[in-house]
Amino acid sequence: MPDAISSPEEFPEARTVEDFKANIAAVRQRIADAAARVGRESDDVRLLAVSKTVPEARIRLAVAAGLDELGENRVQEATAKYHAMQDLNIRWSIIGNLQTNKARDVAAYAAEFQALDRLRVAEVLDRRLAAAGRTLPVFVQVNTSNEPQKYGIHPDELREFLTALQDYPRLKIQGLMTLAVFTPEVERVRECFVLLRNLRDQMLDEAPELIGPGELSMGMSGDYEVAIEEGATVVRVGQAIFGARATPDSYYWPGIAEPNK
Ligand SMILES: *Cc1c(COP(=O)(O)O)cnc(C)c1O
Repeated sequence: MPDAISSPEEFPEARTVEDFKANIAAVRQRIADAAARVGRESDDVRLLAVSKTVPEARIRLAVAAGLDELGENRVQEATAKYHAMQDLNIRWSIIGNLQTNKARDVAAYAAEFQALDRLRVAEVLDRRLAAAGRTLPVFVQVNTSNEPQKYGIHPDELREFLTALQDYPRLKIQGLMTLAVFTPEVERVRECFVLLRNLRDQMLDEAPELIGPGELSMGMSGDYEVAIEEGATVVRVGQAIFGARATPDSYYWPGIAEPNK
């Protein structure tokens, strides 16, 4: 089992279709190995490539290498890319915090939304989706690291939140999503993933109608193997496919320390 979390220096930038094919194959192999360690099938783990900050030209190479589904943290960036690359038939997944004034865009084109943690957003999204004649697969983001500044609902409020979401039938609940604590200590990261799985299992037990298929979106470039060992059904991997990002993660997540600096 992995005993350390990867750091961005390990991720060279992919510049050619061949680079992307190699990176994607390497990640898929590690997914398969992690799944095998715990007796799971690698087919049960979906690889969502995260293309935030990556410019269009390189995204086109990644698509040529076989990707057809991309995650973006920021709606504005996702919307611009969606418009620029409509010829490619990419499924866009929004994986970051959503402001209600961007809900119309998400309702218009997103294939899924993975960071639902406010009822106000659910309400506006549901209304926009109804107007657009669409439904949207969503994941509820849970704060499993007990860091007050992080996005995601508190584990104790999950059931109440999922119950309230029943009022928004255009949102198709797929399961739960989380970001683990940012630390090189694998066991602390693992605890976050275990907590998310336990919450999912508890919901499947007590109120299965609230949680849909009960998927678990957890794990990023540095920790996706640990996440798979703990039950992830979706991993969100950016840097291990595209290369290290220059933008610090604090740009996307409020208040976090810079672990690799
Ligand atoms: C950026 C991002 C990821 C991927 O992080 P990498 O380190 O690039 O693998 C996963 N989930 C969310 C919500 C993100 O914003």
